[in-house]
Amino acid sequence: MPELPAFSTRLIAWQKCEGRHGLPWQQTRDPYRVWLSEIMLQQTQVTTVIPYYQRFLETFPDLVTLATAPIERVIEHWAGLGYYARARNLHRCAQQIVTVHGGNWPKNTEQLAELSGIGRSTAAAIAAFAFGQRAAILDGNVKRVLCRHFAIEEFPGKTAVDRKLWALAEELLPASEIEAYTQGLMDLGATLCTRSRPLCLRCPLAETCLARQQGRQGELPVAKPRATIPERRSTFVIISNGSQILLERRPPSGLWGGLLVLPEGDVDRVIARLGLQLESAQAIPAMRHAFTHFRLTLEPVLCRVSKNQCIAEAGMTWVDVDKAADAGVPTPIRKLLMRVANVKG
Ligand code: SF4
Repeated sequence: MPELPAFSTRLIAWQKCEGRHGLPWQQTRDPYRVWLSEIMLQQTQVTTVIPYYQRFLETFPDLVTLATAPIERVIEHWAGLGYYARARNLHRCAQQIVTVHGGNWPKNTEQLAELSGIGRSTAAAIAAFAFGQRAAILDGNVKRVLCRHFAIEEFPGKTAVDRKLWALAEELLPASEIEAYTQGLMDLGATLCTRSRPLCLRCPLAETCLARQQGRQGELPVAKPRATIPERRSTFVIISNGSQILLERRPPSGLWGGLLVLPEGDVDRVIARLGLQLESAQAIPAMRHAFTHFRLTLEPVLCRVSKNQCIAEAGMTWVDVDKAADAGVPTPIRKLLMRVANVKG
């Protein structure tokens, strides 16, 4: 088998034949226009951006016009594009270039990335398209392509994975034709390697794409892991005198506030606190219950105390075993009580 051309070679060749060439911000090296398009394209589809881009340029044809315009007028031209921080940053950035850089665009990515609203990837895109600089982009589309092609097994939002992706993006850069390569990555992510149903049969990277080989295009990139829900465990003491079960009313605030529940905590301490005489204690199978913000494992212990013991403590009440589950107790406690309904006798 002849060796396949490099990743970048295939992408560049594909971009030249199949990529997008007629977008209004292409065929120019004017950094102002390149920058404007890159900012507008953040989180916004090409078809939405085109009319905004054209109207914006009619009113603000150059950097100085934009820098000296009132912010309200800039926002007015942004209305409908969303993410309005972009418009404010755009205005601020124009002013920074005028005041800090004398109206001249910095040419390297580090200086570009110091300007308002320009992140590392946008800085690289401006440097590549306006100044032909060899700089790596890594926006959401590119991350998707790389995560699939190289079967990156972790969520790309993780710092370590992000670092790895940047290193990969830099490694893949071609020695020349940076514009076609950068545009190719953008085009591939937008037209073929789309979020759902990527068109792998037409993809220039298909032969080396691990996601395609493994049939895992739908799984990659790995989705953001769900926030881990804290786990708690607690002992609930089912105190039975043979015919009744002891319930305790919770304070008005907090979990199960104001409800009757089983005493919670270490068995010996609960028994001592209530001044009871323990006859026997038997752990019964634990039960899990999911709350909105945590999961609770209830570890019930069935404790038998002598029949004639009664409790004077405030908030405590003996309830008949067959009525306990319906005594206004919270759901997990009710389930526990139903399990031990046979404690009677
Ligand atoms: S082969 Fe498919 S999944 Fe792989 S990079 Fe191309 S379009 Fe994306």
